[in-house]
Amino acid sequence: MTAQLPDPHSPELLTCDVLFSGVGGGYAPGGVVVADGVIAAVGDPEALRARYPHARERRAGAIIAPPPVNAHTHLDMSAYAFQALPYFRWIPEVVIAQRAQRGVAGAERGADELTRLGTGGVGDIVWSPEVMDALLAREDLRGTLYFEVLGPFPEKADELFRAARERLEGWRRKERPGGPRVGLSPHTPYTVSHRLMRLLTEYAAGEGLPMQIHVAEHPAELELFRTGGGPLWENRLPALYPPTFAEVIGRAPEPDLTPVRYLDELGALAGRPALIHMVNVTPEDIGRTARAGCSVVTCPRSNRHLSCGTFPWAAFAAAGVEVALGTDSVASGESLDVRAEVAFARTLYPELDPRLLVRAAVKGGHRVVGTPIQLLRRGEAWHTHYVW
Ligand SMILES: [Zn+2]
Repeated sequence: MTAQLPDPHSPELLTCDVLFSGVGGGYAPGGVVVADGVIAAVGDPEALRARYPHARERRAGAIIAPPPVNAHTHLDMSAYAFQALPYFRWIPEVVIAQRAQRGVAGAERGADELTRLGTGGVGDIVWSPEVMDALLAREDLRGTLYFEVLGPFPEKADELFRAARERLEGWRRKERPGGPRVGLSPHTPYTVSHRLMRLLTEYAAGEGLPMQIHVAEHPAELELFRTGGGPLWENRLPALYPPTFAEVIGRAPEPDLTPVRYLDELGALAGRPALIHMVNVTPEDIGRTARAGCSVVTCPRSNRHLSCGTFPWAAFAAAGVEVALGTDSVASGESLDVRAEVAFARTLYPELDPRLLVRAAVKGGHRVVGTPIQLLRRGEAWHTHYVW
């Protein structure tokens, strides 16, 4: 007797808990019919069983979707050892203690890892010109490289802005079709003076340069804008800041002031920067974000590891804000794999529709970093890496 082998030409129905094809809201559960290595149909498994009664059925895995996008990371920290510590210990004990690990070698290692993972695009914060040169030259990287600028002294703003603009113009001449784009990241609303923030965001808005700004990561940031003090101010290196926080932001802190309201009133949201973290925000902040048309990138594992709180995803979704997912650096996020970020988010937000989380990791990410989405639709080749 010979065993009956399945006919390789007969269609196969692959099922999963969540399917996101790149268009629409997705299916839970979902199914993909594949015949001869080509997608024949995607959708609800019941409907597909009715249409393809002879298809062999097999559970493929938890999620079927195009490759996810890592919309916020720091590749130059990819040689760091991961450590979960409260934020105010993590900065000195990890970021500063391992600073010799930061640089081009780490960035190359991180970019290699993104390629190995089959990542669909990246939003990377680039801290040094050498790293920008190295990443901009890579053929396998798609997405946006945001040059990070800091400078809390308003009197140094014009000089810092001129230097940053000169660098950005040089890099933009090296952009290639299909390669990574150059963007700009004013670091945070408390490490960039009001004058520098205005110069950078006006320039980026005028030039159509994509932007990312870290905002409201730790609860102490809210306290700083409300009171002008608290742990964020007490833990700073005093030589690197003006005598008062009011000088950094060009106005007096007040009980109703938040980092988001400050940026909005400064005009810094006009160029629609992607706002990173947004964990410690008020309902008014969420409304401002929606009205400004800004996307938000959340890094759930990093926020948890650094005890920063939980991003209020349901409230942002209800306000219609586009949400994307990032890992942050491996030093706080543990890995560069956005699939692991989605898996963690599913445990963190059991009340949220898992289709929303997968859509954020794919479509939300592509919208933030400006890359085209790979669609799973009839006639496209099937790849096993679509199964997460
Ligand atoms: Zn970051």
